[in-house]
Amino acid sequence: MILNSPRTQYSISPTDFPMVQTPVQTPVQLTEKKVSKLEGIKERSQFLREPVATELKEDTTHFTEAGVQILKFHGSYQQYNRDDVVRGQEKPYSMMLRLRNPGGYIPPELYLTLDDISNKYGNGTIRATTRQAFQLHGILKKNLKATLADIINSMGSTLGACGDLSRNVMAPPAPYKNKPEYVIARKYATNIADLLTPQTPAYYEVWLDGEKAITTEEDPSVVAARKGGRVSTDFETSIEPIYNTYYLPRKFKCAVTVPGDNSVDAYTQDITFVVITDDNNELQGFNVMAGGGMGRTHNKSETFARVADHIGYVDKDDVYDLAKAIVFTQRDYGERYNRRLARMKYLVHEWGLPKFIAEVEKRFGKKLEPYKALPAWKFEDYLGWHEQGDGKLFVGVHVRNGRVHNQGKLRNKAALKEIVETFKISMRVTPNQSVILCDINPEDKAAIQAILDRDGITPDSKVDSLERYAMACPALPTCGLAVTESERIIPSMLLRIRKLLNKLGLKNETFVTRMTGCPNGCARPYMAELGFVGQAPKSYQLWLGGCPNQTRLARPYMEKLHEDNLEKALEPLFACFKQNRNEGESFGDFCDRYTFETLRTFSETYEPVKAVGSGRRRNRVGMTDDLFTKLKAKAAADGVSMADALESVIGDRLG
Ligand code: SF4
Repeated sequence: MILNSPRTQYSISPTDFPMVQTPVQTPVQLTEKKVSKLEGIKERSQFLREPVATELKEDTTHFTEAGVQILKFHGSYQQYNRDDVVRGQEKPYSMMLRLRNPGGYIPPELYLTLDDISNKYGNGTIRATTRQAFQLHGILKKNLKATLADIINSMGSTLGACGDLSRNVMAPPAPYKNKPEYVIARKYATNIADLLTPQTPAYYEVWLDGEKAITTEEDPSVVAARKGGRVSTDFETSIEPIYNTYYLPRKFKCAVTVPGDNSVDAYTQDITFVVITDDNNELQGFNVMAGGGMGRTHNKSETFARVADHIGYVDKDDVYDLAKAIVFTQRDYGERYNRRLARMKYLVHEWGLPKFIAEVEKRFGKKLEPYKALPAWKFEDYLGWHEQGDGKLFVGVHVRNGRVHNQGKLRNKAALKEIVETFKISMRVTPNQSVILCDINPEDKAAIQAILDRDGITPDSKVDSLERYAMACPALPTCGLAVTESERIIPSMLLRIRKLLNKLGLKNETFVTRMTGCPNGCARPYMAELGFVGQAPKSYQLWLGGCPNQTRLARPYMEKLHEDNLEKALEPLFACFKQNRNEGESFGDFCDRYTFETLRTFSETYEPVKAVGSGRRRNRVGMTDDLFTKLKAKAAADGVSMADALESVIGDRLG
């Protein structure tokens, strides 16, 4: 099928340039090139209705290819557990369901529903994602409608959590009430998410048989912005005033943050708005970044990770018009032939920043003002107890790799449910896969901490700093794109890295480690100080040179590192770092400054040091059966040998 390319010129009259006009095809787009087949699927979907609505009624275990693609817009990926595939039998299909909750906000009723349906319909676990959402796995097709109906009826939504449109909008998860810029960031994250939410009635038709769910009221400014304003929309002519028939060429990621707080990985987003207030803490406007994105493909040099550019400043009254202008620029000019090149970062790259900004300004109807100076960025994870600023408290609870489950001694799922149920408190998912429990009365602190302790949740002060700042994507067994392990292997890799650092006398050293099972980069490994990107089974590309506050892109240092060779590859790097770092310099900053060439030269001639007491002696130590069982469980959970588990536990204790 050959479409009129959405990558078209718009005829915009100088006197009327805020108006978005009908695309006019120019000769350069009159090619025989075929648009991606997904564009046709979107066109035929009747605004995200079909074939999902029809296939849902069929007595099958899975959706067709077209159904799978449209289902994504409803927040669900069709998957199968790759560990459970039996040759000659149908794949064990199930659905992943992801919520769309701007700023990571989860009211108590919704969390309890998620807990319930994860047991009733899912695989019994809940996963906190790297975009501040929760997702459920293992839902059978026949249960999908009931699951979604439960979520929607609990004031939740999955609409737009996946698919070619604006994904969950991020904001700093700290629920401060006395810091106005945080309150503003949360509010605008919700408003921008609402503005960019699909308007198709198909969502409620399919999952609630057309009944409209009770939803929170949109801010009137959002309703007005959707109808038009200076940057007009297709409100009069399309069911989707922002997206129109073809939605966006690819996923689109937005965040709102406050100066200095880079908990949201601001440079990895398609658009990031930074709240700017005056001396009286009144909102003035927003600094704007655009064109970030992580995903790439191995051996396709035309694909790459990119950090966002500072494109300017916008007054608060114009922020929705600017958001529309940027989204419309990507909608109308973004690549629709090759999905690998369809993220907005490639448009910015291809055009160059001046042309991109000029097009945005043409649609916006104004020049952007200069980007305002900001303080240095800091990565914040908000673990532990904090004052909320209104007499209440919040506590950040570490969730290893975002996995909320009951396994062995660790029962964070039971703990979170009991706390939410008993104290009726809301939650915010953090951008690095942990959760914050909000609005806690000070008199409840001890009881809540007791539940966390009882259920094996490591307090923030005892979480190994390597683990605290690490992230891993789900990868195997559920993600169809994974070429190797990520979430399941990172605990053992971090233990090995810690052991190596200890051996080299870098005992308390820490850095940001991120791992993904493929180059799509869901856990944003390209911003890490030590990034592992799945390359082949059991092998990773090694990326170095990101920085602790996630403002600089890492670079590929090693093409293929087999997991068995982890120590061999990393020891020379850490040794070189130890010998040559500047005072207080982080590992990522060091790798960036010292140059990869010098690191490679150093590595080539490096002689590994023998650990003190290396050549582990078989000393006999007695322990109770109970301790032995616990140690065995820990070793299994961490994916390490019992000797390593023992060494790690005793090492932590004795230093
Ligand atoms: Fe799957 Fe790749 Fe994303 Fe990991 S990074 S979850 S393997 S798509």
